[in-house]
Amino acid sequence: MKSSYMAAVIGGACAGSEIAFGLAELGLEVIVFEQNPLPYGKIEDGLPIWHEKLQLREKKNIDSKLSHPNIHYVPSCRLGKHVTLDMLRNELGIPLVVLATGAWRDRALKIPGIDQVTDDSFLYQNPLVYWFNHQHEPNFSGKRYDIQPGAVVVGGGLASIDVAKICMFELTKQAAAKHGVTCDLLHMEHHGIFSELERHGLKYEEMGIEPARIVYRKRVIDMPLVPMPVNPDADKLAKAEKVRAKIVDNCRRKYGFEVMELHSPTSVEVVDGGIRTLNLAVNQFENGKLSATGETKSLPCTQVISSIGSIPEPIEGIPMSGELYDTENMFTGELVTDRGVFCVGNAITGRGNIKDSMKNAQRLSNVMTANMQQTEVDYEKIFKFQAEKAKASVEKMYEYLDTLSAPTIEQRESISNFVTTLQKARNYQGDFAAWRDQILATR
Ligand SMILES: Cc1cc2nc3c(=O)[nH]c(=O)nc-3n(C[C@H](O)[C@H](O)[C@H](O)COP(=O)(O)OP(=O)(O)OC[C@H]3O[C@@H](n4cnc5c(N)ncnc54)[C@H](O)[C@@H]3O)c2cc1C
Repeated sequence: MKSSYMAAVIGGACAGSEIAFGLAELGLEVIVFEQNPLPYGKIEDGLPIWHEKLQLREKKNIDSKLSHPNIHYVPSCRLGKHVTLDMLRNELGIPLVVLATGAWRDRALKIPGIDQVTDDSFLYQNPLVYWFNHQHEPNFSGKRYDIQPGAVVVGGGLASIDVAKICMFELTKQAAAKHGVTCDLLHMEHHGIFSELERHGLKYEEMGIEPARIVYRKRVIDMPLVPMPVNPDADKLAKAEKVRAKIVDNCRRKYGFEVMELHSPTSVEVVDGGIRTLNLAVNQFENGKLSATGETKSLPCTQVISSIGSIPEPIEGIPMSGELYDTENMFTGELVTDRGVFCVGNAITGRGNIKDSMKNAQRLSNVMTANMQQTEVDYEKIFKFQAEKAKASVEKMYEYLDTLSAPTIEQRESISNFVTTLQKARNYQGDFAAWRDQILATR
């Protein structure tokens, strides 16, 4: 019966492909609208390229899901620009729309002085990682960046560790190049920068590298580096704190960056459009509470990179509650204003969240428990966690469809025609694998 329904999924990456596949397996015809030619989202543009094996695996996973015969892919089609929610819901009558658009807007670092910066002494994490991942492509035409000695990374999550690593790899590369040495990124990532320099007969201590620094407002043991259930018990929390400390310690020893915990940026001093000093407030953690000590510090630096989180981009027609889409319930992700519009993946919270009562909670909690053993940042488990979370939502969507009457033949035809017209305008011939190969060949 439900095979006569159609659904639209916006965004075809980790969460979008999972949901589209789950719905397609239930017999629905699913249209996936993706703003980019290829649907790899954070896997391609947020996960640094040294995770090449994981990237390849996750991309293959997405490819195989989107190749499902019930899935109709529409590339280079952005919700809010080429199609609107109103068009999909009211003009075409698509009963189920799923937003799997991720979190691509850097949360703004709002400190005095930042708006006086006119050069690249102030950067955000998302464009920086995009440049780092794509800079080597022959046809790359995006913005290029130079990492400055002693760059400061503001933040404390997974991404800030990646950014600090990127800084150290770039600074090592720059210093080694002065000795005629070309560094190998994968060697630096796997064995550390000290080992990379040593195998070229260079000594870190003699290179004059001014290390990057992470500035984090809480303690290292509070860094959100592993997915955690809401209100974890004392045992889980203690284990998580141990894991966080180990991850950060491993990274410091391998990559040489420093971490200033319990410091909050308060302002920057800017000269001629460029940062010269970052001012900090020193915090303390007492009786489970974070507070300012009243002490302040001034850190001379010429580059600040903000990595304080990514949030969903506002889309016309989607109500927001603060930084997030306004959903009735964080787990099901259904919008407050529109029954039949659900959010999944990073579009809902920007990070992992779970409601214990869900039927699939056990499966999800197994994935989270597995995270408690790690000593390295483990993206594979995080992707799996997101995919499991998305899968769990399919059930809820299916229940919702039960409450509707089936669409008419005319409605189905008009949706099909609409999709075919969009695909033709983009030269998409209906074969996802052929399209992917064609796009990759142009890079
Ligand atoms: C640095 C880093 C930090 C991470 N931190 C976390 C974390 O804290 N918590 C966590 O759970 N996971 C985290 N992850 C893991 C990972 O990002 C997510 O689990 C997973 O990639 C999210 O998948 P997604 O499909 O929701 O979003 P994305 O991978 O971002 O995919 C969204 C897709 O939607 C498309 N899209 C966006 N807007 C539109 C539009 N308007 N119209 C059409 N298409 C659109 C995009 O192009 C993209 O393909 C992190 C990953 C990295 C690399």
